[in-house]
Amino acid sequence: MITIMDNTETTEKTKSCDFRMTRQRRVILAELDSPGQHPTADEVYSRVRKVLPNISLGTVYRNLEILSQTGMVKKLHIGSEQRRYEKNQKRHYHAHCVMCGRVSDIPSDPFGDIDKTARENSRFDITGHELVFEGLCPKCNDDNQ
Ligand SMILES: [Zn+2]
Ligand SMILES: [Zn+2]
Repeated sequence: MITIMDNTETTEKTKSCDFRMTRQRRVILAELDSPGQHPTADEVYSRVRKVLPNISLGTVYRNLEILSQTGMVKKLHIGSEQRRYEKNQKRHYHAHCVMCGRVSDIPSDPFGDIDKTARENSRFDITGHELVFEGLCPKCNDDNQ
């Protein structure tokens, strides 16, 4: 079990309450399966609808919320855009294109020392950190030249 680093919105609450793996949740998880993608709820919705034509956007939102509370899905807050989701996986960082909004994974070892420093300097019980690199993606960078 991977620990959720950004635990501001993941509470222990769901660990005790009964979580059922419904068909809807299974389909949503399957849509989030391809690594490197960080779809918004709207994007998840349009993909899931191909499998479950009757599902509503509200249901997708609610299930994404529940799945992120269980730790199976990670909710990303990047820039001021819509929330993005990804299946929880090995810790990695993100690069955010300030031009087109694209979000890419940066496979990188966690900077574990940052947590230690933060813990020492804040007296917080630090459980993790979020780090987003901003810049231009290769495509936007090419367009600029
Ligand atoms: Zn871009
Ligand atoms: Zn990612």
